[in-house]
Amino acid sequence: MRLKKYGLNPARIHHIFISHLHGDHVFGLFGLLSSLGMMGRKVPLNLYGPPALKDLMDYYSRFFGPLPFELAFVSPPEDREYIFENDKISVTAIPLKHRTPAFGYLFREKAKELNVIKEQIEAYGLGIADVVKIKRGEDFTSKSGELIPNSKLTLAPFHRRTYAYISDTVYDPGLAEKVKGVDLLFHEATFSEKDKKLAAQTLHSTAAQAASLAKAAEVKKLLIGHFSTRYRDPAQLEEEAREIFPNTTGVKDGDLYSVPQKRLKRE
Ligand SMILES: [Zn+2]
Ligand SMILES: [Zn+2]
Repeated sequence: MRLKKYGLNPARIHHIFISHLHGDHVFGLFGLLSSLGMMGRKVPLNLYGPPALKDLMDYYSRFFGPLPFELAFVSPPEDREYIFENDKISVTAIPLKHRTPAFGYLFREKAKELNVIKEQIEAYGLGIADVVKIKRGEDFTSKSGELIPNSKLTLAPFHRRTYAYISDTVYDPGLAEKVKGVDLLFHEATFSEKDKKLAAQTLHSTAAQAASLAKAAEVKKLLIGHFSTRYRDPAQLEEEAREIFPNTTGVKDGDLYSVPQKRLKRE
């Protein structure tokens, strides 16, 4: 129902990353899987998360299945850096400290092919084979034997955009290293600073702690959410975070943030 409300086509979903098996993070799967089944999905759906996610889905199948499509499970192994990659992005799992096994995820865009400057194609009489090589970063040697560096033939590459999702976790300063310099960080901020003790007891974070992590990791922008319903006005949590990390926004379901694509500077 939510996907429909936001105009998203569930048939286009192929990979779902689950942080941990608490109701507020997995109950939605049941409805989604059921809808996908009724829509006649045939292609496999890949689920990433703690090992017990498979048990939970077996339970689903026992009562409500079988589904007309395959569910493939991937649990983040500790000895492997990436848990998913295709030609566009790679995803790394980040172990979190919560009351049950939990993972954050770091999504990193892969380097794109370089854009060859049109004028240079004519100027150097580049053929298709040359262009393919130059797009990959190779230099070019002209017929007269002159070496033309790649940087003279292409536009500066785009920076590789990154997004990290961290929820749920107790404040863990060690995470800063894992999400160093990301463009966009979502970090849970369940509690206000005055309930700091409660945050520690329930293995959650405060808004100020989320902001401290963002500051230490030198991220570009911080999104906070997963607010406890005890706070009538989440703006208060946003303010607490902004005192430490000004570029913070409190978010709610359905909000959309894009990370602008920028070209790197060349000397
Ligand atoms: Zn939780
Ligand atoms: Zn939660």
